[in-house]
Amino acid sequence: MAALQPARGTRDLLGEEWRRHLFVVDTARRIAACYGMEEWSTPVFEDTRVFSRSLGDTSDVVMKEMYSFTDRGGDSLTLRPEATAGICRALVSNGLTQSLPQKVFSTGPMFRYERPQKGRYRQFHQIDVEVLGAPEPLADAEVIACGWHVLKALGISGDVTLELNTLGDRASRDSYRAALVAYFTCHREALSADSRARLERNPLRIVDSKDEGDRRIVADAPTIAAYLTLEARDFWDRLRRHLDAFKVPFVENPRIVRGLDYYGHTAFEFVTTRLGAQGTVMGGGRYEGLVEEMGGPPTPGVGWAAGVERLAMLLASPPAPVPPVAVVPVGEAAEVAALALLQHLREAGIGAEMAYRGTLKRRLDRANRIKARAAVILGESEVAQGIVQVKDLATGEQKAVPLAEVAARLR
Ligand code: ATP
Ligand code: MG
Repeated sequence: MAALQPARGTRDLLGEEWRRHLFVVDTARRIAACYGMEEWSTPVFEDTRVFSRSLGDTSDVVMKEMYSFTDRGGDSLTLRPEATAGICRALVSNGLTQSLPQKVFSTGPMFRYERPQKGRYRQFHQIDVEVLGAPEPLADAEVIACGWHVLKALGISGDVTLELNTLGDRASRDSYRAALVAYFTCHREALSADSRARLERNPLRIVDSKDEGDRRIVADAPTIAAYLTLEARDFWDRLRRHLDAFKVPFVENPRIVRGLDYYGHTAFEFVTTRLGAQGTVMGGGRYEGLVEEMGGPPTPGVGWAAGVERLAMLLASPPAPVPPVAVVPVGEAAEVAALALLQHLREAGIGAEMAYRGTLKRRLDRANRIKARAAVILGESEVAQGIVQVKDLATGEQKAVPLAEVAARLR
């Protein structure tokens, strides 16, 4: 029978790779808690409308990347491509729209039908932070500071730059959009086919086009600065002041746009040059209207999502697992005492292993192979005396230790 493979764009995460992954998630969870974020876990699949409404029918994700299917009951469901929509839906479903702000941390697998390559998969994982119901720029700054803190705690902040932009309020965006349409219309013939299509639907998206030809045209395109209303400028000023106060370094990049209608004011990306084309490790911004699309009242939100795989690739070396100790019985008579000791050590929180069979020599070989830090050896005479021999496997040094003290010694 032919050996079966994982589905295209999916990966098994085992051993060191999964340890890196867990380190990223555990670190983010710990840091987010320091910022008052409560962890929510929402379903991996949702009513398709949760995403088609929130992401808009013209977004790349909805048009090309969603895993949607009709289930046996005839409902249209979609594997979540991102976390924000489900969190906004959960806010409404759980009657929390009057208990604001809600500060949320979330993590789990996401699904997008994309062309797989390094750092880009069809099942990948995100960590995600959202603050719902806070219109103040301080919320944006806090969310960004939390993201920066996660990258620092992972030891990768030196490889990452925070690129920050404002998209202004609706009025700023409307006049900016008109200016962009006028500019890009003059260069219509030189734009890529994708961008020509965006010219009518969503001209803002052309600004972050990855096409080389588009980029040359975008280089001279107007930026939003000249189109900001007084209120929008004030929001932008306050955000940058708060970030300075939080000591979060950033560079302004007018090309950072989150191409969705819901996004306004803050838009940001944490980018690295170490992952080739997949250089964005964390992206986010401020949005409004999403909670309304889920059937709730107008509620602003601000948040970010980061790809766990991309963060894991940037980690210098994964945290090593704590090596176990090996329990080594000598002769059948010591086996019962060895099992009791094995259980005693494990209950004391010490990683302990015992081979299922084998001579003293084989068991010691195996202890070295699994990189045990010590072997705890007991034969008939040790059992009789209530002691064990503790052998340090790095130095070879061995000494007798009373049974009652073993756990304390090894901890
Ligand atoms: P990209 O421009 O790389 O496609 P995006 O704008 O689609 O990213 P977001 O929707 O903002 O990404 O998702 C947030 C983060 O999730 C990204 O910055 C990235 O780190 C990660 N991510 C997105 N899509 C994938 C994927 N297919 N595989 C792995 N990680 C991903
Ligand atoms: Mg994408």
